[in-house]
Amino acid sequence: MSEATSGNGPKGTAVVTGASAGIGKVYANRLAARGYDLILVARRGDRLADVAAPLREQFGVKVEPVVADLGNDVDLEKVATKIAGDASVTLLVNNAGTATFGPVAQTELGAIDAMNDVNLTALVRLSRAVLPGFKTRDHGTIINIGSVLGFAALQFSTVYSGTKAYVQFFTRGLQTEVAGSNVRVQLVCPAATATDLWEISGVPVTRLDPATVMTSENMVDAALAGLDLGEAVTLPSVENPAPLLAAYEAAAGAVLASSQNGKPASRYKIAG
Ligand code: NAP
Repeated sequence: MSEATSGNGPKGTAVVTGASAGIGKVYANRLAARGYDLILVARRGDRLADVAAPLREQFGVKVEPVVADLGNDVDLEKVATKIAGDASVTLLVNNAGTATFGPVAQTELGAIDAMNDVNLTALVRLSRAVLPGFKTRDHGTIINIGSVLGFAALQFSTVYSGTKAYVQFFTRGLQTEVAGSNVRVQLVCPAATATDLWEISGVPVTRLDPATVMTSENMVDAALAGLDLGEAVTLPSVENPAPLLAAYEAAAGAVLASSQNGKPASRYKIAG
């Protein structure tokens, strides 16, 4: 079991963004059950209050709802400053996210901005907010929620996949930055999970093959089990991810290595 999820002492405070619904709401429940106090962030204060009350009662933990629009600079800065200055924070789950599926030219600019702002900018800003404290205390865990769509840009998911590819690279990069310390960074890449995100995206979950859809409870329980197992990248529905990820990273490394020669490739027939 990892330091973040085991031990007898107080666990500290877990910050869960997007805790008013779906996957984040389940993280809030499971982390409260593990003994974390909680800071729960989302725009819908009424939903956060509904999530918080039973957790306080059932698990006896402190739960602080923070109503914030993570797509808004002022709100984002407010949350970042709050969690940067709180030494009790030992875990950050960057879960808040949004999706609007469809061709780029037919997608509202506001929806594109929201995906970039929430899925990507807020995740980077909040990671950066907690990292100095985690490094100084040599303790702390960041869980970034990516997606299997971060491995593939499908016709309907150009922007969303782009944001999740960013999450993947950013999180893998952070892992190299904290290597050798007790700070942990986990990338979680769910496949289709039964949440409101699908309705919001314009593709109701009922249009998916039910056999491909996981419950949010199973997704979070698998992701936390992956954290306990020490996984850097957790693909909750993938039976044997290690060889796939090794091949993927080897191919990416080979592309990078083969580019390091300072010359146009011979197929372009550029003299000199
Ligand atoms: P969801 O049920 O729609 O929940 C999204 C959460 O994010 C809500 O709590 C929402 O709260 C919050 N959020 C959205 N925009 C926000 C904003 N501007 N400011 C603050 N909070 C905001 O979706 P979900 O499926 O649980 O999504 C959670 C994460 O999993 C996302 O990062 C998503 O990309 C990822 N994911 C989901 C699936 C899937 O199939 N569902 C698959 C792969 C990855 P408010 O509306 O109250 O603000």
